[in-house]
Amino acid sequence: MARVETHFLVVGSGIAGLTTALSLAEYGSVIVLTKAREEESNSFHAQGGIAAAIGEDDSPELHRQDTLRTGVNLCNPASVDVLVNTGPRAIQKLADWGTDFDVDGEQWALGKEGSHSVSRILHVNGDATGAGITSNLLRRAMLHSNIQLITHTMVTDLIMHQEVCRGATAVDEQGETVRYFAKQAVILATGGCGQIYQYTTNDPVSTGDGIAMAYRAGAKLSDMEFVQFHPTALAVEQNPMFLISEAVRGEGAFLVNDCGEAFMERYHSWKDLAPRDVVSRAIFQEMEQGRKVYLNAIHLGKRFRNRFPKIYKALCKFGMDPSKDWIPVTPAAHFIMGGIYTDIYGQTTISRLFACGEVACTGVHGANRLASNSLLEGTVFAQRVAEKCIELVELETDFLELNRITLCKNKHKETEWKQTIRQVMWKYAGIVRTEEGLSKGISQLKQLETEIPQGYFECRNMLMIAQVVMELALSRRESRGSHYRSDYPKPQKSLENKHQIIQEE
Ligand SMILES: Cc1cc2nc3c(=O)[nH]c(=O)nc-3n(C[C@H](O)[C@H](O)[C@H](O)COP(=O)(O)OP(=O)(O)OC[C@H]3O[C@@H](n4cnc5c(N)ncnc54)[C@H](O)[C@@H]3O)c2cc1C
Repeated sequence: MARVETHFLVVGSGIAGLTTALSLAEYGSVIVLTKAREEESNSFHAQGGIAAAIGEDDSPELHRQDTLRTGVNLCNPASVDVLVNTGPRAIQKLADWGTDFDVDGEQWALGKEGSHSVSRILHVNGDATGAGITSNLLRRAMLHSNIQLITHTMVTDLIMHQEVCRGATAVDEQGETVRYFAKQAVILATGGCGQIYQYTTNDPVSTGDGIAMAYRAGAKLSDMEFVQFHPTALAVEQNPMFLISEAVRGEGAFLVNDCGEAFMERYHSWKDLAPRDVVSRAIFQEMEQGRKVYLNAIHLGKRFRNRFPKIYKALCKFGMDPSKDWIPVTPAAHFIMGGIYTDIYGQTTISRLFACGEVACTGVHGANRLASNSLLEGTVFAQRVAEKCIELVELETDFLELNRITLCKNKHKETEWKQTIRQVMWKYAGIVRTEEGLSKGISQLKQLETEIPQGYFECRNMLMIAQVVMELALSRRESRGSHYRSDYPKPQKSLENKHQIIQEE
């Protein structure tokens, strides 16, 4: 069985993993493992942009207030302070590393999105921000002599020794088991778990592996009941669903139902730019009443094509012209606010195990993420993780034999199990939840536990995460941000700033 040694082991090649790798590369050898092609990540698909307080009418304090308000008394204020104060510097770093943010005259162009009080969203090539940032980081990482990027390698579990994380086991492209030992630290940057839902904007790689393996190893998780549903995925059934960025509403597009009513006026004073949970629930309610929902961007005319070239192209593929047609939309699972519990340096509750990006829960998003704060979180906290990792002394790694791992390959069965998990989650732990529904969902998932054999790693990880989300959604008897219980429709004062932190027994 192959054995590889490095100073720092990074899992994931999205914005968080790549920023970590580049920040560590001057201090030792870095291996980045990623389970698919290098650019396959949610980071690469990100459209609207990255938020930071750099405009003349803006300040970190305003950004802070917007983040805290949107997180509905569940954000960790210390993490939010880090995010908003370090944000402008982190953006400058991305620019120094070569990201070409769009400009408006001499300044960086700033767009507007839901729940932001001012325009503060930087973007690249209109609506291809993720690809713009990530491809640039990838190019840089691949050129760095201290960074080795290994694709199509699925990390299956963490290597623990005397309660310290010492590396990870993985299965490479040829199906061989490889043990990767880290002399200094292991950093999980494996992103979220949108794939546990039937309708999601998330890339197929988002199966919650990092959260599941950390949980198995004994790490604490936090806030896992908080899943954000993006209001406007294109209502064409596919996996993943194509996203119509919130920036489109930021440019003036608005939601209408099939009676032609601009219904958001009835739901919130900020109308189409209300927080995401409010807009998603409003759409859900319209749909429950048998209406279809559309985005009307007709008045943007040719501007749509110039400002959102990627979305325009995708719509054309489906025979839609946004300057003539309303765009059919539906909510879809988009982001998880919870994850592996970390401090403000990305340190998990396991020694030498760090987490950053969507896999981590720094508490920065609270009960609801402010639009475009997640790319920022990925890059800001990755740089802080690197600061801590380089302080750790090197350890010997030659101490342990491990078993060979076999990935099971019955694709048909795997697709079936995944589909069951996704349907159960959408039905019972979706936009509107109830005790009755969650209890049914929990018992349906329980049945799958015995059916899915060891070796179906993604599937078992998805099941584990789905069960955690369901259980915590059941025990939070209130509505807050993205977690809406129709049987407890109001937030409870006693649950303000109360996090559900769990650890496997
Ligand atoms: C369509 C879409 C649009 C979005 N638009 C925006 C936006 O405009 N602004 C914004 O701020 N946010 C946006 N988001 C959210 C944002 O993109 C993500 O939260 C963020 O990119 C997560 O970055 P990450 O580095 O943590 O994870 P990801 O970018 O998801 O990367 C995870 C990486 O881990 C790898 N991985 C996972 N499991 C394993 C394993 N077991 N072994 C090896 N490798 C593994 C994956 O292959 C991948 O490389 C959007 C999300 C989507 C889906």
